[in-house]
Amino acid sequence: AKRAGGGRHLRYTAELDAQATVRARAGAELREALEAGQFHLVYQPIVQLPEGRIVSVEALVRWSHPERGFVSPAEFVPIAEETGLIVELGEWILRQACARAVAWHREYGAAAPQRISVNVSARQLAEPGFAGLVAAVLTETGLRPEQLVVELTETAVFDGGQALRTVEALHRRGVRIALDDFGTGHSSLTLLRTVPVDVLKVDKSFVDKVTMAGRHAVIATALIQVSDGLGLQAVAEGVETAEQAEELFRLGYRLAQGYHFGKPVAQPDFTRATRAVRVR
Ligand code: C2E
Ligand code: CA
Ligand code: CA
Ligand code: CA
Repeated sequence: AKRAGGGRHLRYTAELDAQATVRARAGAELREALEAGQFHLVYQPIVQLPEGRIVSVEALVRWSHPERGFVSPAEFVPIAEETGLIVELGEWILRQACARAVAWHREYGAAAPQRISVNVSARQLAEPGFAGLVAAVLTETGLRPEQLVVELTETAVFDGGQALRTVEALHRRGVRIALDDFGTGHSSLTLLRTVPVDVLKVDKSFVDKVTMAGRHAVIATALIQVSDGLGLQAVAEGVETAEQAEELFRLGYRLAQGYHFGKPVAQPDFTRATRAVRVR
């Protein structure tokens, strides 16, 4: 740290240095993990209501650390974003997920999921080359653009002009755009006026309380109306019970995802329907 006049400033720069060191170490560790093949993907079904047929899957990254065991993405994805390693890791995830979707189509034909969703972070979207990378991966793997869904959070799309230009380029190419955790951001509805969106992933927080009369249920109802009105698809996230699934179906939701229908696994069973929803 550079020498400072006041003790306070000195401590501050020392702390910043310490933070930078920790971050650099974390970044190096993630890079080694990627090179050592410690990451893998799991896939969670997105089902059509009421039959419970799998129409799509979301790819979710997992890290099995040789000593620490399973590390949650909620822990390492933010570090990968801060250190910039998410760009490399994200490229690996995209390539892996697209190749897997194509392999399923070969193996299962019509029973294979129609689409695959891949989470893309703000940092990746801000890279000027991102739309080009997606195009290259689609060509390489043979996945059609309509079969790929890119899941973005609100903050990612608001991250300056480059992100929006990239989203527009992807959408023009036929790649589907999903807004993740929809309804939790500061300007969810404003985004719908400016960003070309195909899918709204209605956040788990609204789904959790959808069976109880109250604000959350009212918002869940309003969101399906907005989605239908704009001709978008809505996916209810984090459905854990049959009661939630029934209520969501009654409100007009036709796509759902959550432990009730299937946890994220390395190889979902596409040959049979998951739980059907009782129609009242
Ligand atoms: P997300 O994109 O909102 O993903 C949904 C999370 O909810 C996943 O957690 C999933 O396993 C979990 N989930 C699904 N259904 C249920 C349910 O019924 N109940 C409960 N309690 N949870 C459910 P996961 O896999 O731990 O991922 C956490 C977050 O980490 C993701 O949230 C996403 O923001 C990030 N993430 C995961 N994989 C990737 C990736 O490949 N790339 C990027 N950039 N981010 C990722
Ligand atoms: Ca997601
Ligand atoms: Ca989500
Ligand atoms: Ca989330």
